[in-house]
Amino acid sequence: MLGGRKMGYIEKLKEKLKDISKYHQIMSLMHWDLETGAPERSFEYASNTLGELSGKIYRMETSEEMGDLINKLTQKNEYDNLSENDKRIVDLVKKDYERYRKLPEEFVKELTKTTSNAQKYWVEARKNNDFSIFQPYLEKIVKMSIQQAEYLGYDGNRYDALLDMYEPGMKTKELKGIIEDLKIRLVDFVNDLTEKGTKPEEDFLFEKYDLNKQKEISIKVLELMSYNFKAGRLDVAAHPFTIRINPGDVRITTRYQEKDIRDSFFSTVHEGGHALYEQGISNEFVDTPLYDGASMGIHESQSRFWENILGRSYDFWKYFYPEMQKTFDQLKDVSVEDFYKAINIVEKSLIRVDADEVTYNLHVMLRFEIEEALINERIKVEDLPKIWNEKMKEYLDIVPENDSVGVLQDVHWAHGSFGYFPSYMLGNLFSAQFYHKMKEEIPDYDKMIRRGDFSSILNWLRSNIHKHGKKYEPNELLRKVTGEKLNVDYFMDYLKEKYSKVYKL
Ligand code: ZN
Repeated sequence: MLGGRKMGYIEKLKEKLKDISKYHQIMSLMHWDLETGAPERSFEYASNTLGELSGKIYRMETSEEMGDLINKLTQKNEYDNLSENDKRIVDLVKKDYERYRKLPEEFVKELTKTTSNAQKYWVEARKNNDFSIFQPYLEKIVKMSIQQAEYLGYDGNRYDALLDMYEPGMKTKELKGIIEDLKIRLVDFVNDLTEKGTKPEEDFLFEKYDLNKQKEISIKVLELMSYNFKAGRLDVAAHPFTIRINPGDVRITTRYQEKDIRDSFFSTVHEGGHALYEQGISNEFVDTPLYDGASMGIHESQSRFWENILGRSYDFWKYFYPEMQKTFDQLKDVSVEDFYKAINIVEKSLIRVDADEVTYNLHVMLRFEIEEALINERIKVEDLPKIWNEKMKEYLDIVPENDSVGVLQDVHWAHGSFGYFPSYMLGNLFSAQFYHKMKEEIPDYDKMIRRGDFSSILNWLRSNIHKHGKKYEPNELLRKVTGEKLNVDYFMDYLKEKYSKVYKL
């Protein structure tokens, strides 16, 4: 037909999504700038601009026009004729649309204001070691989070409404089941290691390590992982993160500490794992909601795989250690065996972000249990320091000497991010399950790592996980790749095999 085909509803929707995507690109670039190098006086203006832009996106995503398009596209005759990818796009857009429409604009503004205000008081409380400074703000945030869950709706547990924002499809009931099983096994194993095992030496990790040389090593390891520097860059930030600006620009940040060789290395590898995921999503999804990770948990499974399963493995260091020794004189007389053991020390420690891979999930469980009880109004904010310390005693047998290294250590609650913590744990569990499957399908896995050849591993991750972006729900993706639902045995088996050797159990 002359004049071409009339634009269908799905094309119209995609045009709108493309417009929204442009705003996201600008905002991401501004976020990156604020975290990496923007001058102090820029913050107030930039924050206002970001606020305006997110309001603009909110209005675009909840407009009448958007509602009409979704309505038309979900009519049976329209929907049935869409491709599988387009059906998924419509489903995701509809889910967001309905979620946003459930939250009154005034409420969203109030929540944003409350949380950005609360952060100041969280910083102050932490600095002064005084929970009571943060308490009234946290009380308000908890109250608003409960309200948010009520607006969003849920079937069983109120916490489900919040959890679903980070881990679609995951239910509180399922999480509780996982934790009940895993907690006992982990606590027992940690006790075995710390009581019966032999703790390795670690002093050499904390000598003075030249910052420029640390940077060279960071770049080398990213190159080894096939992170594409033509489509990204590495910078410094106080709290390392990865951010996609656009499909040709996925940036990593890390941080360097002179007195700890581990920090920059493993931060870089962790963020590199996130970045490889983002760089590997299929280009056909660009400018749609499919151009994203499947969930926070799946994203974390990628970073944790590179950081821990590969990056803290003996085979990896068998290959990479000569490079480290060449770069740092301090390691000249340290054997690869000793270095490997030192970076795998298991400790009952206070701070989640510094925790080793064995104790890490215990830190997350404690937070989940507190959050879930807060949102369901079984406990009160004022009792948090006490509850926190009791749980630390129970799971890790240590009690924080003050709240700064206890209940005040994480920023998440000040952000109002209730429901986020479980993703960290799920990431660890997913990564072990993927790893098990990967080893079945790549018979030379160990040998290839010892040669520093990660191409089959990256290809496996690309074709099984990365390229699909957000096409599948996390549990659907897990089943598709591994043939079964989440099974914590893979994680425990992985830990037992590795750490029984490190600790000579
Ligand atoms: Zn991460």
